[in-house]
Amino acid sequence: MHLILFGAPGAGKGTQGALLSECLGLPKIATGDILRDAVRDGTELGRQANGYMDAGELVPDPVIMGLVRDALHSPDAVDGAIFDGFPRTQPQAEALDKIFADLGRDLDAVVVIEVPDDRIVERMSGRRTDPETGSVYHLKHNPPPPEIARRLMQRPDDEESTVRRRLAVYREQTEPLISRYQRAAVPIHRINGSRGIEQVQRDILGALGC
Ligand code: AMP
Repeated sequence: MHLILFGAPGAGKGTQGALLSECLGLPKIATGDILRDAVRDGTELGRQANGYMDAGELVPDPVIMGLVRDALHSPDAVDGAIFDGFPRTQPQAEALDKIFADLGRDLDAVVVIEVPDDRIVERMSGRRTDPETGSVYHLKHNPPPPEIARRLMQRPDDEESTVRRRLAVYREQTEPLISRYQRAAVPIHRINGSRGIEQVQRDILGALGC
């Protein structure tokens, strides 16, 4: 099964993608996570991506397509994958169609996690990541165990002005892709992402018939 998770930054794609990956036994291909690892490790990819990410802008399409192509060719992904944060632009969506055609694969479903902008800003200002495991917490809505709390970090791109820029980029460039998949008759499942993590997960699994 190949599944795309859409949703504004902070809508819960990372959290829900990780839960889905566990439930469905499929790898999560999260381009943002791959880029953050590259920045942390100081690789050439990280050097190329860093400035765009800190400004809340998109990393150029050719860089992203290289990552996704590699991830989809990995043996882990022979039975499918869950895309989190990809595709984000029209050229990325077109390139993904071509990779699927080359590999003889199909997109099975699109899940859209819907959360209003004001709620997103409130959520992201409290979002913290565990640098050791990559787990994501929220100081108010999903507090970490005390032994983890002291090592949590805030992503630089979770600061309010950058969050607002990322939201604008999502609304302008990424959200229109949903109607593209609708026109291609891919099943689209719209999920109310303003509720608790478990409720949202139940709704997503229910919609996918898992
Ligand atoms: P995310 O964790 O998915 O919100 O991604 C964090 C940042 O990484 C984004 O604001 C972009 O700068 C970059 N990024 C992640 N995925 C993509 C993508 N598919 N296309 C372009 N830039 C991306």
